[in-house]
Amino acid sequence: MTDAVKGKISVETENIFPIIKKWLYSEKDIFIRELVSNACDATSKLKKISLSEEFEGGTDYKIELSFDKDKRILVIEDNGIGMTSEEVKKYINQIAFSGATDFAKHYQNAENKAEIIGHFGLGFYSCFMVSQKVTIETKSYKKGEAGVLWESESGTDFSISPIEKETRGTKISLYLDADSGEYLDKWKLKELIKKYCDFLPVPIFVDGEKANREKPLWSEEPSKLKPEDYKDFYSYLFPFSGESLFHIHLNVDFPFRLQGILYFPKLTHELDASKNGIKLFCNHVFVSDNANELIPQFLTILKGTIDIPDLPLNVSRSYLQNDPLVKKITNHIIKKVADRLLEDFKKNREEYQKNWSDISIFVKYGILTDEKFYDSVKDALIFKNSESGFYTLNEYWEKNKEKNNNKVYYANETEMGSVYMDLLKSQGLEALLVDSKIDSHLIQNLEMKNPDMKFQRVDAELADQVVDKDANKGLVDSENKTESDRIEEFFKTVVAVEGVEIKAEALKSQEVPAVILMPEFMRRMSEMNSMFNKEDMKALKNHTLLVNTTSPLVKSALRVFNGVNQEKGKNLARLVYDLALLSAKAMSEQEISDYTKRTSQFLEEIFSEN
Ligand code: ADP
Ligand code: MG
Repeated sequence: MTDAVKGKISVETENIFPIIKKWLYSEKDIFIRELVSNACDATSKLKKISLSEEFEGGTDYKIELSFDKDKRILVIEDNGIGMTSEEVKKYINQIAFSGATDFAKHYQNAENKAEIIGHFGLGFYSCFMVSQKVTIETKSYKKGEAGVLWESESGTDFSISPIEKETRGTKISLYLDADSGEYLDKWKLKELIKKYCDFLPVPIFVDGEKANREKPLWSEEPSKLKPEDYKDFYSYLFPFSGESLFHIHLNVDFPFRLQGILYFPKLTHELDASKNGIKLFCNHVFVSDNANELIPQFLTILKGTIDIPDLPLNVSRSYLQNDPLVKKITNHIIKKVADRLLEDFKKNREEYQKNWSDISIFVKYGILTDEKFYDSVKDALIFKNSESGFYTLNEYWEKNKEKNNNKVYYANETEMGSVYMDLLKSQGLEALLVDSKIDSHLIQNLEMKNPDMKFQRVDAELADQVVDKDANKGLVDSENKTESDRIEEFFKTVVAVEGVEIKAEALKSQEVPAVILMPEFMRRMSEMNSMFNKEDMKALKNHTLLVNTTSPLVKSALRVFNGVNQEKGKNLARLVYDLALLSAKAMSEQEISDYTKRTSQFLEEIFSEN
């Protein structure tokens, strides 16, 4: 060590160290990520160079981690590009100077820049968070270059001297400090390699054992991959999560670089979506499994990987939010997902419809929260119809808008089998099936986006086509009243309940004595209220009782009331109201019990007379 050079590492060190320290405090482990990715970088650089230059030492690249428990030394060694003593001074001593950036400038026009990991900036110095002393022994691939030893005990003072080094590459020895003994453990090291460096494209060994998978599927050519490759990769990333419904391979070069594979998981439950399903990488190095700043919330249902080489993903999250690149990336991902759904819908509608129950919540939530997503995906938004087929909104509209007087009828599963639907169907009308809580919001939203469509729940009002408007025309009694007027008056005396409005109309179908109509607005409000439950619906006291003047039962009630037995007529009318409430499922437990008593008594009276 006669001609050792000593010096001070450039001035910024003192200012930067406290920052690194703080940053690492929460995640001390990442020094492994930084040193191993530098080592991987060194091999990638040499691979690149090997295309045009010859050098000694072979091309079977690898990174090896080993440790000496007694001496408390952790070693990370690669057979990559190595450094000359000039390079050590430049790249290691001037820490604000990123060697990777410098290299990238040099090889700007080369392909496969993606292999050069950069943007970790202060990466190398992270090792001082766990070490009391660090040495670098390195030898450049360049012919005739001597080995170099760099030593530093503080991270601020260093010495450089020439050494004998047989092999090309870099060996970094960390003399771990008293708090960092945990890294002298094979399992701990393997675990960290698996977490951060699993997909680095060079074999990594821990104590002689291979520790990484290497092949990042997302950087391969999509056309060369088979469905099984994607399947295997999914179960490798997410063991025990079953199958995925489909995947999207993202591969962008311009205006930003982005690669990744996003899977749509098969959910067994609506709320099954696990957070943290998307793993973020920067040039194959795992950064985080929280992609919340990059993708909108509705997309967090997806699982998979996103690799963005140009984004400093390890910097603060608030910085990311304001990065214009992030906005572009987000929009790109939204667009790709929407395009994929649309493509599936167009190419294989049957399959798409089969999967609809699995993806509908996601699509609807996306439509509600993201304008751009709505624009791209709206033509793949489908609804079940009353004939157990599927319609897009436009298909329904084109087919029915004239018949329906510009209304879009909709119903939930129970209402589909109700008297309201029977009435609509009897006139050849159709309704769309809504089937989840989110649909109330969706309908409100679609109505806003399609101002000419008026959405109407099947039990909100009767369709004009169901009512016979001319039935009572001209038929008036001595007091100039129609049968409808008489029936309305009669029912008003029987059903004198606050909030209940009585109307009498001639329905085209005689089978239905009366129906309950619920005001659309109140109904939607109560459904959108997150506290909504069945009991709230029953509490909806404001409704209309529409009595069917063509029903024989209604006619009999009026006849009995006017003739033989006023009381009996009233009871019969009450029964008509009860039946309507029942078929609207609008009775509480108490009301059902009252109804049962009332009806038994009434039937008893009728039969005891005979
Ligand atoms: P960055 O990786 O962002 O450039 P680092 O602090 O991690 O920043 O590394 C600084 C520079 O030191 C690298 O760019 C590289 O030139 C050099 N370097 C670090 N580790 C190695 C290594 N194992 N082999 C060759 N060069 C290395
Ligand atoms: Mg680095």
